[in-house]
Amino acid sequence: MVFQSLALAEPILRALAEQGYASPTPVQQESIPPILQGKDVLAGAQTGTGKTAAFTLPLLQQLLNAPKVLRPAQVRVLVLTPTRELAQQVFESVQTYSRYLSFRSAVFYGGVSIRPQYDEAELGLDILVATPGRLIDHLHQETVDLSELEVLVLDEADRMLDMGFVVDIKRIMAKLPAKRQTLLFSATYSKDIKQLADELLNNPIQIEV
Ligand code: AMP
Repeated sequence: MVFQSLALAEPILRALAEQGYASPTPVQQESIPPILQGKDVLAGAQTGTGKTAAFTLPLLQQLLNAPKVLRPAQVRVLVLTPTRELAQQVFESVQTYSRYLSFRSAVFYGGVSIRPQYDEAELGLDILVATPGRLIDHLHQETVDLSELEVLVLDEADRMLDMGFVVDIKRIMAKLPAKRQTLLFSATYSKDIKQLADELLNNPIQIEV
């Protein structure tokens, strides 16, 4: 299979070609079509399988399919990650794959000054990558508005639960519209992950690689 058969626009394909990606990995082959169709996805995928591109590429395409003028503080796609290192890594992937597109994206995590993040959020964001704690700070300050969120991605959801983020995740969920697309990526499936998936996902496509 080649990326050209996955209904991705030319600027995305060009960025992939520049990265030297010849063909989609198994998790990308299985995830990209249902995500493009707007379905919820529950994917079991370890780091190193290409899971970041598996959700980023179709979400960039969806943003392209439905361009919107951003309102102040609005976020269209939110990717939650357990650690700042993973947030930074995912953000760099977003930047790489969207280099020929003009979306607004940002990464927010704790341990750094929140002030520059206020400025970035103010104009609205097509894609925000964030850790739960710092995102909650923004929600309290009302510097980030999730009321029109279109897609939520939970990346490494098992690690988020292991790190005790379940309460934070639920507080964030309470700010999201009920009608949205949700994608949950996890390396392992515990009882807790299944329960979280039951609460957050609507009739998900299940993918195991
Ligand atoms: P991830 O599992 O998202 O952490 O990705 C693991 C590594 O695989 C990253 O360095 C990506 O740049 C790379 N990668 C992702 N998709 C592909 C692909 N289709 N072909 C080659 N490398 C890829």
